[in-house]
Amino acid sequence: MSQDKKPATRVVTAGRRKEWTQGIVNPPVWRASTILYDDVAALRANNKADTHHTLFYGRRGTPTQWSLSDALTELEPGAEATLLYPSGVAAIASALLAVLSPGDHLLIPDSAYDPTRNLANGLLRKFGVSTSFYDPLIGGGIAALCQENTRAILLESPGSLTFEVQDVPAIVAVAKARGITTLIDNTWATPLLFPVIALGVDYSILACTKYIVGHSDVMLGSVTAAKGKYDTLRNATYQLGQMASPDDAWLGARGLRTMAVRLEQHGRSALAIAEWLKSRPEVARVLHPALPDCPGHEIFLRDFKGASGLFSFVLNGGDEAARAALIDGLEHFGIGYSWGGYESLAIPVDPEKIRTATKWQADGPTVRLQIGLEDPGDLIADLEAGLARFARARG
Ligand SMILES: *Cc1c(COP(=O)(O)O)cnc(C)c1O
Repeated sequence: MSQDKKPATRVVTAGRRKEWTQGIVNPPVWRASTILYDDVAALRANNKADTHHTLFYGRRGTPTQWSLSDALTELEPGAEATLLYPSGVAAIASALLAVLSPGDHLLIPDSAYDPTRNLANGLLRKFGVSTSFYDPLIGGGIAALCQENTRAILLESPGSLTFEVQDVPAIVAVAKARGITTLIDNTWATPLLFPVIALGVDYSILACTKYIVGHSDVMLGSVTAAKGKYDTLRNATYQLGQMASPDDAWLGARGLRTMAVRLEQHGRSALAIAEWLKSRPEVARVLHPALPDCPGHEIFLRDFKGASGLFSFVLNGGDEAARAALIDGLEHFGIGYSWGGYESLAIPVDPEKIRTATKWQADGPTVRLQIGLEDPGDLIADLEAGLARFARARG
C-alpha cells in the first residue's frame, strides 16, 4: 500500500484487493460461519494466533470485513491493522479492555462521549480499574494527573457536545515518557481530517456509524492500532468474540468511498451556518473548533486538515421550553441521536449535567446540530424561524 497517495485517492482505492473482489468494483459480501478444509492437516495448519486475512471461521471475518479494515488502516499512516466492531461503543469498550487490568488507572477527558463515561463508571470500575476525568484543555499538564498505576489515557478531540480541541501531541509526549497507552475517539474528524496514529497515538477509535457509513442505516465501529500495538487488541477482540457482520462492513465500505466529498460539503455548510449563528443576538456562543473563540482553536488550526459537520451553540437566556420551541418546529432538522448521515439533526444537550472535573457555565441552554447535505440556505432559513420561535417563547 503506497503512503504517498493523497487521502481522497486512498478513500477510493483502499482495501480493494483483486483476490477479494475478483475484479468487481465493490468488494462483495462474503457471508460465512463454517469454513471447510480439504483435510485434517489443512485444518490444523490454519490454526494460527492471527487469522486476519485468512479464512478460518466466520467470527474472524471474511474478505468483506478485511477489505474495510484494510481501507481504514491505509487512511492512518503508521498504522498496523484495524479491527471492526458492531458499534462505536463496542470498539471503545474492546480497546479499553484490551489495554487495562485490575488495579490500573485510566484518564478520560471531561468532554468525552457520555457512554464512554458510563463504561468507566460501570464495568471498568467493577473490574478494578479506577478513572479520573480531566479538563480536555489540560495539554501537557496531564503529567500531574498521572499516577504510578496510570496505564491508559483516552482522548476525544474535539469533545462531544462542547467541542474543546485537545493538544494531542502534548498529551502523547507525556504518555510516551511514562509508558502509558493512548487511545483516541476520532469519530468527529475521521483519519481524513485528523490522522492521529502519525502523531503517536496508539489506538484510533471510530464510530463508523457516523461518517464512514454516512447514511444513518448501520451500526459499526473500528479500532486502528499503531505498529506494535495490534497483537494486544487482537487477543482481546478474539476473546470477547467481537466482530462486525459482512453486510454491515460492506455498507461501511460503500459509504467510505464518498466520504471525502461528503465531509467537504458537511464541513463547508456547517461552518457557514456556525458563522451565521454567531451573528445572531439570540445566540450567546457557537461551539465550533474552526471559530477563533472555540477553546483550543489554535490547536485545531495546527493539527486538523478541516472541520466536519457537527457543532453546538448556546442560546442567549431562555429555558427548556424556549429551546424546545426552537427545535420542535424545525422543518429540515430531524430530532434524534447519532450524526454523520446525509440529513440534518438537532438535539438539546446538557453538558452541565455530565461533567465532574470541570464546570460547564453557559448563558442558556445548548443545542447540538448535525449539518447534513441539504442546501445551507434552506437550513439557515429554517434556523432563523426557529430562533424567532425561541425569542417569542423566551419573552
Ligand atoms: C456516536 C458516538 C460513539 C458511539 O458510536 P455507536 O456506533 O453509536 O456506538 C462514540 N463516540 C462518539 C464521539 C460518538 O459520537
